[in-house]
Amino acid sequence: MHKHEIAISIVCPFFNEEDMVDLFMKEITAVCYELNKPFEIVCVNDGSTDNTLSKLLQAKEAYSNITIINLSRNFGKEAALTAGLDHAKGEAIIPIDADLQDPPELIKNFVPRWEEGYDVVLAKRVDRSSDSIAKKITARLFYKLHNKISYTKIPDNVGDCRLITRKVLNAIQELPENQRFMKGIFAWVGFRTTVVEYKRDNRKAGKTSFYAWKLWNFALDGITSFSTIPLRIWLYIGMLVSFLTFVYGGFIVLRTLIFGVDVPGYASLLTATLFLGGIQLIGIGILGEYIGRIYMQSKRRPAYIVENEY
Ligand code: UDP
Ligand code: MG
Repeated sequence: MHKHEIAISIVCPFFNEEDMVDLFMKEITAVCYELNKPFEIVCVNDGSTDNTLSKLLQAKEAYSNITIINLSRNFGKEAALTAGLDHAKGEAIIPIDADLQDPPELIKNFVPRWEEGYDVVLAKRVDRSSDSIAKKITARLFYKLHNKISYTKIPDNVGDCRLITRKVLNAIQELPENQRFMKGIFAWVGFRTTVVEYKRDNRKAGKTSFYAWKLWNFALDGITSFSTIPLRIWLYIGMLVSFLTFVYGGFIVLRTLIFGVDVPGYASLLTATLFLGGIQLIGIGILGEYIGRIYMQSKRRPAYIVENEY
């Protein structure tokens, strides 16, 4: 099929979502038919270990315009989404999660904005009441910290569900990094952007695969991808500690000159040594984070491997 025959590409990563496939297709196609534009649904099976793939294949029998990109293993959501974007053929591309937490009706709000001439239509959650308190607090902290120290600001409470035009997708594909923190990448490329608001639902079926540790790593990825402030801060910490040491050293010399040699000092010595040891380890750890990223990128491995396309 020629590229420009498709107006809208829905792109969705699936990881162990067997309970969601049927419902997802039903709701998404219903919305898409209402739009009255040629569309396709690009499904990426991200190494699911359940029946997601066979469910997707069944769905492809039932609906005509489904493409299935089957990855060779689980590469993680960011890579799966990248795979889907790379295979999308539409003029407007809409990434959406399989769990329907971002309601498909949103798509109906996206399209008019696109037709008005916007290149990016974001969906902003005005109500996160479906998330746990811990997730709400950590998400908030993450956005705050990230936007304080990164050159690229990520809009608060905006997920991956959005509409982007082909122009924006081309720009995204220009970015050669293989560790793809999509929220940051989307924000980095820019373009004329508008926002529609919505209420985020609960997951319709299945369960989330993002737990605390994974989210923590995800946050680290985000920050190290878009900021070098964690590296530079060590210059200032070092300067501050050196200054304090200098002042304290002067004080000791003066005190010795005035009051003579005073041997006890075990506690202060130990505290200073341990404190500096800790500070140095943190510094090395942060260096390590970045070196690790340089190392991974220097291998130039692709972000994902496609096993099969249906
Ligand atoms: N997902 C994926 N690969 C993974 C983990 C998740 O493709 O390794 C997909 C998942 O199937 C869903 C989307 O990413 O379509 C969002 O995942 P989830 O709902 O678990 O995340 P949450 O909404 O809890 O952040
Ligand atoms: Mg979800």
